[in-house]
Amino acid sequence: KVVITDLITEPLEYERSVLDGVADVVALQAMSESELQGKVEDADAVMVYHYFRFTDATIKRLERCRVIVRPGVGYDGVDIEAARLQGIPVCNVPDYGTEEVADSAVSMAISLARGSHFLNSRLKRGVGDWNVDQAAPLWRLRGRRFGIIGCGRIGTAAALRAKSFGMDVAFYDPYLPDGIDKALGVERFDRLEELLSASHILSLHCPLTAETRGMIGGPQIREMPWGSILVNTSRGGVVDTAAVIAALGEGHLAGAAIDVLEQEPPEPDSPVLAAWRDPTHPAHDRLLLNPHTAFYCEEGCAEFRTKGAQEVLRGLLG
Ligand code: NAD
Repeated sequence: KVVITDLITEPLEYERSVLDGVADVVALQAMSESELQGKVEDADAVMVYHYFRFTDATIKRLERCRVIVRPGVGYDGVDIEAARLQGIPVCNVPDYGTEEVADSAVSMAISLARGSHFLNSRLKRGVGDWNVDQAAPLWRLRGRRFGIIGCGRIGTAAALRAKSFGMDVAFYDPYLPDGIDKALGVERFDRLEELLSASHILSLHCPLTAETRGMIGGPQIREMPWGSILVNTSRGGVVDTAAVIAALGEGHLAGAAIDVLEQEPPEPDSPVLAAWRDPTHPAHDRLLLNPHTAFYCEEGCAEFRTKGAQEVLRGLLG
């Protein structure tokens, strides 16, 4: 018996396409943690989404479970230490929607650099001249530097896209072996400061770790060229979003695209929502905000559900 908790409902076509003949797949919409515990205790495997946390207490009730799968990147909703003590492996699915995140990052950057977002926002509120709005950042992309922090799966996909627009691509990633830059035909900087000061567009593609938390704040933004663009589709905690809003307001950043926030959804009185809601806010026209959807598309969902079920199968088959 494989139990899928919250989010996913019948007909479970992707999970069953992998697990039919091996296990019964059941979708569980529990209303409380105690209800959840009562319904997962006889499961041989569980696929967990994010509504319920898999706490120590819940994991202790998993009497016969052989694997816990989190069909997504982050697994902070599962107490992995409790799972370890119980001898249950925990798997995630880190590699879905790679191309979509890269598409989102590069397309938002281009929308900001070519002024589409800015001009649309100003037209909506009736400001700016019709033909040539001098306030708009309308860059030629060719020859501009597209800087990437974290050149893994998504960073690489973004690099290839940015290159195809004629941009000079560079990355900072201290964990990649030598030669990746040559293979991709891009530049590599060994120091973050070098990348910051050389990038007209900075796109973040590193994970949130103790090292990357708060990596980009006011001082780092000030190292970027005046009038540059910042794109964050990685994790909210990597960037001090309040500092981004301040830099947009003063013009140091010509634009920012934010798909991820320190807290999602944000508090109603957060600086980012204040700027996004208020058309008179100095950052308003330069801020492109998305609700953590950079990865999303129908095919991507099919991908993480199918890959999640494949992890369950691997766990059940040992
Ligand atoms: P990946 O593991 O393939 O690549 C991450 C890269 O970051 C690696 O090359 C790693 O060496 C590098 N890195 C780690 N620490 C670093 C540091 N201190 N400085 C610079 N680089 C560092 O991961 P990926 O599949 O490319 O995903 C990247 C991130 O994108 C994920 O961790 C996740 O947070 C985010 N993401 C967001 C969405 C979304 O919808 N917005 C969807 C999927 C993933």
